[in-house]
Amino acid sequence: MSCEVLALTEELINRQSVTPEDAGCQQLMAEYLAPLGFEIETMVFEDTTNMWARKGKGDPVFCFAGHTDVVPSGPAEKWTFPPFEATQHEGQLYGRGAADMKGSLAAMLVATKAFVTKHPEHTGSIAFLITSDEEGPFINGTTRVIDTLEARNEKMTWCLVGEPSSTTLVGDVVKNGRRGSLTGDIVIKGVQGHVAYPHLAKNPIHASAPAFAELAQTHWDSGNASFPPTSFQVSNINSGTGAGNVIPGDLTACFNFRFSTEVTDKQLIERVISILDKYDFDYEIDWTFNGQPFLTDSGKLVEATQDAIKDVTGRQTELSTAGGTSDGRFIAPTGAQVIELGPVNATIHKIDENVNIKDLAELAKIYQGILQRLLA
Ligand SMILES: [Zn+2]
Repeated sequence: MSCEVLALTEELINRQSVTPEDAGCQQLMAEYLAPLGFEIETMVFEDTTNMWARKGKGDPVFCFAGHTDVVPSGPAEKWTFPPFEATQHEGQLYGRGAADMKGSLAAMLVATKAFVTKHPEHTGSIAFLITSDEEGPFINGTTRVIDTLEARNEKMTWCLVGEPSSTTLVGDVVKNGRRGSLTGDIVIKGVQGHVAYPHLAKNPIHASAPAFAELAQTHWDSGNASFPPTSFQVSNINSGTGAGNVIPGDLTACFNFRFSTEVTDKQLIERVISILDKYDFDYEIDWTFNGQPFLTDSGKLVEATQDAIKDVTGRQTELSTAGGTSDGRFIAPTGAQVIELGPVNATIHKIDENVNIKDLAELAKIYQGILQRLLA
């Protein structure tokens, strides 16, 4: 089992699938799954290749979700080993995507084969939802596959996303939800003029500073047992002509909310506008909504996962909603229970990304244990 996970991970790393390229990774996965009884559906949307593979017609549906694309390597000469030539070194496997998340994809494949070989008559269905657009703009990936599935009323009961959730040891942390994300881009309009004649100008920096101060000090909510309090951060402010004697004509700024299940995007937008409107300036604001928060706080999927991790590693896993967004945000609104479990995330997106080879084999055993508990 362990050699096969390693060999498949290496084959996937050697395919240079920088987002949104798939570079034949899904083909490799399809060729592995088809002989096991999976029906393969390729869904190409614009520049993105997606795969929906399913074995079985009935409920419940257990789905492995993940992505074949990787972030760019950065300067290849800074890597100890070439980023797209998988290299084993002192028990680690090096290469772009080793941890995020080609190792997980290999573990899913091997776990599935081991499970269906042992239980050819398993209950329900097993599915794979794989995209090449998770690291990119996430427009033509998971979200469009979900739209397609929803349109034909094809639902998942449980979904395991293979994102690298672990902190120091495989299985020590499972993500059972994620915060929501909302971005605002604002332009504050002033009137440009000479600094010596401020009565003939309107300074957008002076006008907006108290509003930003109020936004930064506002208590949005107190969070809850599963989520920390909602946070507001200004990420960019730009204004000024470069000259020391000119009052600028406008100011642009960008801010982001990471929010809990105690508020919605609509409530946050209303509250921001009611704060801004208290101050004396004109503005325009564009909102980008990056996903609602979601939470799978209990249920069979969480239980099976905790139990399988305990069984394979002896570890008591921690449930967490921290960290950035993932494609789980597109899947959870369909009503599926969603968790994320993958290898240690210490080197993801970095130079010299690597994964512990033993961890990959353990991960495959944990995945198989989850299938066993839910579908045997
Ligand atoms: Zn990832």
